[in-house]
Amino acid sequence: MYIRKNAPSAGALPLRPLCALLAGVLCAALLAGCASAKLSYNRDLVMAIAWQQNSGEYAALCHQAFNAGRVYVESLTPPSGEKRAVVFDIDETVLDNSPYAAWQVVTGSPWSDETWEAWCNAAQADAVPGALEFTRFLTSRGIDVFYVSNRPVSVLKTTADNLERLGFPNADPDHVFLQQTTSDKQPRLDKITAEGYAIVMLVGDNLDDFDSALRKENNAERLGWVTDKSGAFGASRIMLPNPVYGTFESAMASNYYGLTPGEKASARLEAIRPWRH
Ligand SMILES: [Mg+2]
Repeated sequence: MYIRKNAPSAGALPLRPLCALLAGVLCAALLAGCASAKLSYNRDLVMAIAWQQNSGEYAALCHQAFNAGRVYVESLTPPSGEKRAVVFDIDETVLDNSPYAAWQVVTGSPWSDETWEAWCNAAQADAVPGALEFTRFLTSRGIDVFYVSNRPVSVLKTTADNLERLGFPNADPDHVFLQQTTSDKQPRLDKITAEGYAIVMLVGDNLDDFDSALRKENNAERLGWVTDKSGAFGASRIMLPNPVYGTFESAMASNYYGLTPGEKASARLEAIRPWRH
């Protein structure tokens, strides 16, 4: 039997298709590796985002927080002639930014000023469960709603647009104070007080929303502050759940935001206390 030179033997794949197949497998492996690397970059966020976006428990905690706020407000005796205000943080307090965090995960992108501003300018955030109803309840009781956030002032208009589209009251520059020069919220709170308001409640998802000095403290100090103020929570201080981000993360190590992703992962791992037996 004549056998053509270089012809494949019985049962073997032709050489050229075999090379193409191997190349395809290699490319697929590389792409999978890239996707895996991208995913692993923010992998610590996955469970937290899934919980925020899917669990009834997250929504229940938000409603619980705002229900406590209603009870507290109704317990107050309005002083005659005094203007009253409740000050809200914005992100993860009245607006749900979990789609931005999920985008970080699926694209392997770190947080950045540019992409965060793009998300803010898209004005696509939904309301945190119960937030809209609580703000409307406050205005129905004659209490003015203010928003003090460390979003950059460059996104003031689109942030107000986002709040207004969702139906939040006072979505205007006279009531929305974003970050201009400092992340310290106290000067902006002082401005509200200087306008004659008594601030009867602060609402946030980060201890820094209640005391700006805490933004420079470590977690042990922050926990100590909470213990000292425990009676205020569910009353004049309303805390919303946010497992995805916050100062608690950067408070795990000094110069946290200057660390590499690997060093941040190590800091997080060192922060957990395992069962020892
Ligand atoms: Mg916030």
